[in-house]
Amino acid sequence: MPTFKIREDYIPFSPPSIGSEEIEAVVETLKSDWITTGPKTRKFEEAFAAAYGSPASLALNSCTAGLHISLATLGVGSGDEVITVAHTFCSTCNVIEHLHAKPVLIDIEPQTMCMDPKLIEAAITSKTKAIMPVHYAGHPADMDAIQAIADAHGIPVIEDAAHPVGATYKGRFIGSGPNLTSFSFYATKNLTTAEGGMLTGDPELIKIAKELSLHGMNRDAITRYQKGGSWKYEVVSAGYKCNMTDIQAALGLVQLGKMDAIYARRKHISDYYSARFAGCAALETPYESPDVRSSWHLYVLRLNLDELRIGRDEFIEELKARNIGVSVHYIPIHLHPYYRDKYQLTGDTVPVTDANFYRIISLPLSTKISDEEIAYVADAVLDIVALNSK
Ligand SMILES: *Cc1c(COP(=O)(O)O)cnc(C)c1O
Repeated sequence: MPTFKIREDYIPFSPPSIGSEEIEAVVETLKSDWITTGPKTRKFEEAFAAAYGSPASLALNSCTAGLHISLATLGVGSGDEVITVAHTFCSTCNVIEHLHAKPVLIDIEPQTMCMDPKLIEAAITSKTKAIMPVHYAGHPADMDAIQAIADAHGIPVIEDAAHPVGATYKGRFIGSGPNLTSFSFYATKNLTTAEGGMLTGDPELIKIAKELSLHGMNRDAITRYQKGGSWKYEVVSAGYKCNMTDIQAALGLVQLGKMDAIYARRKHISDYYSARFAGCAALETPYESPDVRSSWHLYVLRLNLDELRIGRDEFIEELKARNIGVSVHYIPIHLHPYYRDKYQLTGDTVPVTDANFYRIISLPLSTKISDEEIAYVADAVLDIVALNSK
């Protein structure tokens, strides 16, 4: 193997890719007479629903808000239980806590790292009010299996769709069904508005969610302030405040138009990494089920620790020493002190999640990263393996 030479420039994990069209769209909005929720937000909602076949859509200030509003829309409250996975970002569970309900954490399938449908039935009680799968890394969860169990028990499903914008399950886009489905447009996500989210689903549910997202008011600001609008409104619930601004929507509309190119580039990078790592006993590349198209939000490499003399944390230090930014998605819920202590959680309750955590590394993946940079990242990973194999 040729000797590895450390580059001078740092490769960031996931830089946002903002072009001149996005900048112009934002500036144009700032110069217009309407900067908060208004015509651009409505247009973004319509364009998103048209692109992914959503029955209805509601732009919000984050995916977290979308999940929170979804639970509130379904009336989840004190003493209720929501089944979700431990292998997720904290916000999936935090919003359950915000409504004084209990997250019931189940394990994941080893291949897809998404909710294992076989474990749902045993977790259902008379208090279960929702099931919340996460489409991890952009790979859709096994929705037909999850839906069949949910329907048999009359329990609604809320989809944490922070990752899978543009992903399909059995040919259907995530967000095309009636389940409340919450997308994220956070800075590192495939489509970004800096901060933002989109909630899709059944029109009747989205109507309730929309009211809850703006103080529980039955008329929004643009309806009141436009010519001919009435100043009158009524507060019909103690709602929240998590609407999207037209500044964000202007950015989102441009990004939405680029999603085919964004998908193609992310898939190219992921395929490249997997081709480079194929056949390396110390590395397990991501799995894509034949039923789905992943959005390739994350490239999660799994180390086969039996083959290596170093652990995951040291592996990351080696990557950092080679000027590569990586991340870990996620520190599972049962290891965070708040959840661990409150619910007395141990790794034994979610063994697959727990074992995975010590093996996972998310490699740089962004449309802003060049072919030369991904080649360097692959070289670096293989260099670390070569130096540290048993
Ligand atoms: C990013 C993320 C969220 C939260 O998204 P925000 O838009 O930042 O609120 C929720 N769940 C998962 C799995 C995420 O990765």
